[in-house]
Amino acid sequence: MGIAGRKIRPLVAGNWKMNGDKASLAEAEAVRDALLGPFASLAADVMIAPPVTLLAGFAAALGGGPVLLAGQDCHPRPCGAHTGDIAAEMLKESGASAVIVGHSERRADHGETNAEVRAKAEAAHRAGIGAIVCIGETKDERIAGLTLDVVRRQLKESMPEISTAANTVLAYEPVWAIGTGLTPTAEDVKDVHAAIRDVLVDLFGMEGDKMRILYGGSVKPDNAAVLMAVENVDGALVGGASLKASDFLAIVRTYVGE
Ligand code: PEP
Repeated sequence: MGIAGRKIRPLVAGNWKMNGDKASLAEAEAVRDALLGPFASLAADVMIAPPVTLLAGFAAALGGGPVLLAGQDCHPRPCGAHTGDIAAEMLKESGASAVIVGHSERRADHGETNAEVRAKAEAAHRAGIGAIVCIGETKDERIAGLTLDVVRRQLKESMPEISTAANTVLAYEPVWAIGTGLTPTAEDVKDVHAAIRDVLVDLFGMEGDKMRILYGGSVKPDNAAVLMAVENVDGALVGGASLKASDFLAIVRTYVGE
């Protein structure tokens, strides 16, 4: 599609997962500094989701700048007896403008269901921050030819009714592509994103046509441009390659056309 043909402002979000310490602020600051310089007229939103321990510190250093911050998960409830959990309101107070929900590692490691993911997305909306809702098929589901069925079902069951283009982003992340170095072909990504777009329009009408659909799963500097050019790919959710400012910026660059 190319930068000029884009109707939707892309989002490039880095998911740091359980990585990073106070010293990692230097990487986030390097991203910020680059965005303030050569990317002066930024044509994309750029976000980092650090571990929650770093969120407030990053917000103090980066707040108000071009790097948005996000949490990696939240509890559906605003407060209460939920040891170890974090409320969406707490993330917001710590400086997050969004939270990732339903990441496949949460679904696999913590048995999160579509209904729970939806409740977490609703919590984000209640708190006044955005939800980045992740969906994607496993390797076995892909081999069985079930990709579109799985993705459509996750989408219908995980998206809150009040989702809008402003408060919700969809991230398609084939589970087998996450952290493996494998990616689907551009043609496969095109088909899945087209199916996601159709469901979003069915569910949300015109609003569904404006929602951002990110691709995630082994996005690297050397494949970002090919993925970015696919129709209905409105940005990227980046894991491993977001930890180093130079790699993350190389990916951001493909989305802003610099
Ligand atoms: C992710 O976990 O969201 C992800 C896309 O990871 P990676 O880029 O490392 O595959």
